[in-house]
Order: sequence, then C-alpha cells, then structure tokens
Amino acid sequence: MALSFDITSADTRNALRPATKEKPPLIGLSRTELAEALVASGIVPERQAKMRASQLWHWLYVRGVSDFSEMFNISKDLRATLDRRFSIARPEIVEEQISSDGTRKWLFRFPPRGAGRPVEIETVYIPEEGRGTLCISSQVGCTLTCSFCHTGTQKLVRNLTAEEILAQLMIARDRLGDFPDRDTPAGAIVPAEGRRITNIVMMGMGEPLYNFEEVKKALLIASDGDGLSLSKRRITLSTSGVVPEIYRTGDEIGVMLAISLHAVRDDLRDMLVPINKKYPLKDLMEACRAYPGLSNARRITFEYVMLKDVNDSLADARELVRLLRGIPAKINLIPFNPWPGTNYQCSDWETIEKFADAVNAAGYASPIRTPRGRDILAACGQLKSESERMKKSDRLALEAMMIAGHGEA
Ligand code: SAH
Ligand code: SF4
Repeated sequence: MALSFDITSADTRNALRPATKEKPPLIGLSRTELAEALVASGIVPERQAKMRASQLWHWLYVRGVSDFSEMFNISKDLRATLDRRFSIARPEIVEEQISSDGTRKWLFRFPPRGAGRPVEIETVYIPEEGRGTLCISSQVGCTLTCSFCHTGTQKLVRNLTAEEILAQLMIARDRLGDFPDRDTPAGAIVPAEGRRITNIVMMGMGEPLYNFEEVKKALLIASDGDGLSLSKRRITLSTSGVVPEIYRTGDEIGVMLAISLHAVRDDLRDMLVPINKKYPLKDLMEACRAYPGLSNARRITFEYVMLKDVNDSLADARELVRLLRGIPAKINLIPFNPWPGTNYQCSDWETIEKFADAVNAAGYASPIRTPRGRDILAACGQLKSESERMKKSDRLALEAMMIAGHGEA
C-alpha cells in the first residue's frame, strides 16, 4: 500500500515565495553569472562581487538554505536587500508519496514562465543497498513519441529551467535530510558518504538533450566540488539518441551516458524510438564509440525495455552483442511497465532471463532492473504530470494489469 500525503508550506523549510519577473532566481546561475547579477543589481560593488558570490554559493548549495535570513555571516541590511531583489525559495511540493518498497515520489509545482500556466512534474527517489538514486525530469512532457512510453503520449508543455532541474535535487535533499540542520555550526556539512542521495539520473520526464543548455547548467552546478558536490561519475544522463548533443555532452558536461536503445535493427527502432529515423543506429553507435573517457570503470549504459514478442528473441540478444562490440558497456534490461491504453506487454520472466544470460555470456553485465515504486506509478515510463492525472478507472485497470501479469518481482 502506498502512503500519500499533501505537504503544506508549514512542513517545508522554505517560504514558498517563488521567483517572479521582479525577483529573478539565483539558483541555476553559474558562479560568474551570480557575481554579474549581484553587480548589475547595484547591491554589491564590483570589487566584492567574487567574494559575495562564493559566500552565497556556499549558503545555497552546501548548506541548502532557502531564505536569505539564514545567511548569518552576511549583514542584516544586505540580506534584506537581497531578499527584496532576488528569490532563492523552493517551489511548491504538491504531494509526496512513499511506496511500500521505500521509493518516494514528489509532485512539484513550478510557477508559470512568461504567458504559460504553472506546471507540475514528478521526481523519484530510489533507495538501494549502499546507495540512493534520484531520478530527475528535464522537460514537462516530451516532443518524442516512443511508442512504449507513457510520457511520450503527453505533448511537450515546456522545457524546465536550470533552476527547476536543480530544485528537484535540492528539495529531495531537504526532505531526506541531506542538507545540514540550520543549527549545525558553520562549516559542518553532511559528508558525502552519509548522504541519502548518492547518484542522480536524468531519466524522468523529457529528453534531456532537447533541453541541452539548461540541463548542462544544472549538471555543472550539481557536480561543483564546492557546492552540491555530486561526482560526475555518479550522474547519468539518459538519451533516446540525439546524436549531435551526445558529442556535446561528452565535451561540455562530462557525465556518464545512458542510451535508450531498445532495438538493434533500424526498422524496429524506427517504430519504437522514432528519433532513430533522424539518427539511425550507425550514427548513434559512432557517437557512443567516440564518447570521451570510456573505460571498464566508466561504461555506457544501454537501456533495453523487454517487450514481449517484439524485441526479446535470442537473435536480438546476439545482434545486441555484435552492435556493442568494442564499447565499454553495461546493458540494463528493463521489464516493460504497462500503462492504460498500451498495446505492449512485458516479456515473460523466463524470456528475460534467457536474454540476460545470452548477453552475459558475451561478457556484458546485464542486470534486470527490478521495477520500483509501481504502486505509486513511479517506475520507468510511468511518469506523467498532474495536468493529465489518471482517471480512477484507468488506475484500477492498471492495477489489474499489474496483478495479472507483472506483479512485484
Ligand atoms: N527521454 C530520455 C530519458 C527518459 S529515461 C530517454 O528516453 O532516454 C526513462 C527510460 O525508461 C528510458 O530508457 C525509456 O525508454 C524507458 N521507458 C519508457 N517507458 C517505459 C515503460 N513503459 N517501461 C519500461 N521502460 C520505459
Ligand atoms: Fe521521451 Fe524518453 Fe519517453 Fe521517448 S522514452 S517519449 S524520449 S521520455
């Protein structure tokens, strides 16, 4: 049974005063941009800009404060002025759900950008033995239409900003206790090995490489050693295969790469992952081979959703091995997560195991991803925002499907 409860503002550390046109956000700016914003506002003289930017950076990303009044080594007057001009508040948490397996899912509401409406997105935390992974969204909806993906049935509403991408990590840290308490002496931080979020994956809603600039900004801030301090080796960006931006990811971001492969022949991949028509397998594999810094310790993850009688034969497994030859790779076999209205079914467990064995025998690690958080619809491809929340009848149909064929592994 899943737990679900609404969070009121009193529950959170933040004051829910989101950024507005008049009060632009400081979260999501690079150090240089932060210093420039302070100078441009006339609040901080140029000679102090670098020092102030470092001070703020520490408060925002090491201590995780969301209110200027907590920055006690900055004068009261300056704190008040900053508060009048800039926002560092967290966005609103609409709902927090905790699955029976410990997976958590949050529904966040972000204010409108320009003429648009507020948007809602989901972020998922998956605790595992020795690590905890936060699954972050990059867009509201997706322009791509992979035929087995629930998000793909939702139109793109808009890209998330760097602030909104980072906010998902920062609120999750608030809620999981990964930032130091407010009364912890200055300098005392939660050490990396004590944190609950050890890894992040850009595997939520959206195609991160169709929102390259904002994703890049957010990930460079998340991996900044004097701030949120997540190692780039513990950040994985998943793409359906936007080839030109794969090269840029390697050169400009340097995080780990995951490829939503799902098929080993162009004719089938054209149907499952339609971006394949633009960037076919040959180009995709070439970009993977060229990805910088690959080694046995730094492998590309290939995601492969197991669709019954579609892509799950032993011939497919053999072709997969041939395709990946020479690339340091691990293969993540994902049992298909059904959703109402889909025509696909998950492969039988036996078929998945045989497929995994064939890939394993060729020397590739091929873990089968255990479905997590299914009772709160937090599993891969099940994320969809509140704007299209499931009707009760659909939810019941989905639960029936899960019980019938693909109960918790
Ligand atoms: N858009 C990016 C990031 C999303 S990652 C991408 O496609 O890579 C989410 C992963 O879950 C992708 O590999 C996606 O193909 C997979 N997925 C989507 N729908 C799924 C479903 N219903 N069951 C299992 N996996 C699914
Ligand atoms: Fe978009 Fe990824 Fe879903 Fe394809 S699998 S529709 S790229 S979110």
